[in-house]
Amino acid sequence: MESQVERRRERLVCRNPLTGAELADVPVMGRDEVRALVAAAREAQTAWAGRSLPERARALDRLRRSLAARAVEIAEVIRSETGKVHGEALSEVAVACDNLAYLKRAAPSFLLGRRASTAWLLHRRARVTYEPYGVIGVITPWNYPFAISMSAVGTALAAGNAVVLKPSEYTHLTGELVASIIKEVIGLEGLVGLATGDGRTGAALIEAGVDKIAFTGSTATGRKIMAAAAESLTPVVLELGGKDAMIVCADADVERAARGAVWAAFYGCGQVCMSVERAYVVESVYDDFVAAAVAEARRVRTSDEPEAMVGSLVAAFQLDKVKAHLQDAQSKGARVLLGGRGIAGAGYFFEPTVIVDVDHSMDLMREETFGPVLPIMRVADEEEAVRLANDSTFGLDASVWSRDRAKARRIADRLEVGTALINDHLINYAIPDLPFGGARCSGFGRVHGLEGLREFARPKSWVEDRLAPRREMHWFEEGGSGEERVRALLNLRHGDGLSTRVRAAWRLLLSLRR
Ligand code: NAD
Repeated sequence: MESQVERRRERLVCRNPLTGAELADVPVMGRDEVRALVAAAREAQTAWAGRSLPERARALDRLRRSLAARAVEIAEVIRSETGKVHGEALSEVAVACDNLAYLKRAAPSFLLGRRASTAWLLHRRARVTYEPYGVIGVITPWNYPFAISMSAVGTALAAGNAVVLKPSEYTHLTGELVASIIKEVIGLEGLVGLATGDGRTGAALIEAGVDKIAFTGSTATGRKIMAAAAESLTPVVLELGGKDAMIVCADADVERAARGAVWAAFYGCGQVCMSVERAYVVESVYDDFVAAAVAEARRVRTSDEPEAMVGSLVAAFQLDKVKAHLQDAQSKGARVLLGGRGIAGAGYFFEPTVIVDVDHSMDLMREETFGPVLPIMRVADEEEAVRLANDSTFGLDASVWSRDRAKARRIADRLEVGTALINDHLINYAIPDLPFGGARCSGFGRVHGLEGLREFARPKSWVEDRLAPRREMHWFEEGGSGEERVRALLNLRHGDGLSTRVRAAWRLLLSLRR
């Protein structure tokens, strides 16, 4: 008898944060659908990996050109889902194009592999090649939905993998655009599958038999992903949250540092993993820095106009978090000098906020706020600034601001972070040759640069014979464990003094003649 039960699949509705309008209504894919995507990707991967390295590099270049030609259209989609201003949305496309150009240039020679030296095995030849993993599960967040997805997917493809992409539930259309443009340009059905849904779909992807997971998102989700991937020993790359510090030294160009702080704290409405979330300013320049930062922050125009400087937060949960962090800080004695409130009307707008008298008892200084807030803390000296900057579970980026670059470098050297910047912030993500990733709970593994490429290419080591002598030194010799030979070889290569080595060489020769 046929079931009377109507089996309805759960669906997700994506909305425009600026207007509340419905943008997309997509299924929450479950285990079977995700497995089907992985199976299709596996089939396409064989054909893709069969293409030569130059052929794959040319395909990535066609992809780059296509993105550049459609940049405005892509930026519109990004803006509709995230509430970003135009310039920021467009910069996502620019970063993706730069990364593809880098991959076209760097991937073929890197993936060709290298020779390896053979130590004492002079009659052997050794080399390393880089193989694709197979199918990579790419799970991405909403804050840079295009640049992050395209970077990870592009790098995975460059190394010969196929991908199943699970974009954030807030930015489904942008994820769809990534997959559809690649399909248009490369044309291999299933090469980049799109898994629609929320965290449950992401969890299903981890169980679906992918060969590696490249995850970008919060530290809390990163923990779950690593635990789930441990079951099948699936390797993971985790690009997680941040709480970036900036240190302003006594000899900094204070005006410039304040302008940089305001930009790096409010760009993207503060929803950048490497936003400046803590500024530590040395006492002697503290008052000047605070005054300059407040003056600069007053100029920051937040609105729903595409040409504003700062747009909306992505959703209500972000607005709630920003308010909660500010409330906690104020209840413990912090003072808001500018902003501090949501902006009434459609969207999730929040005033650019400068807050002082903060300390490490406050959530604002310890947890990721991800909003347009610049907390400034007075410190006695650079020593205290370093101690406080390192007093964090996160370790993504940090910057040091000083006119003395050598001193700034020495300070930056002591910061436990993935990227250190001198007199700038944020901009490292736009340099495709520079590996990007975190220390501590900001994750591990890298995107961008050769280190990023390596994440998607499994090294395979090779040894082959160059000469084939009748007897091999390391094979079984009659009637013994070969101890004498090993000792002779050890002394020949590592023994102290010429005479020890000459004696060892003689013993080795004798043992070989036996
Ligand atoms: P999130 O962790 O909530 O979600 C990220 C992705 O994971 C989404 O696609 C989501 O659906 C999926 N997901 C959720 N639960 C899952 C589960 N149990 N298994 C598998 N997938 C699951 O993060 P978010 O709110 O989308 O993004 C903001 C966070 O991302 C911030 O913490 C930010 O710092 C971080 N981020 C880090 C980087 C970086 O490169 N280090 C870059 C951008 C954003």
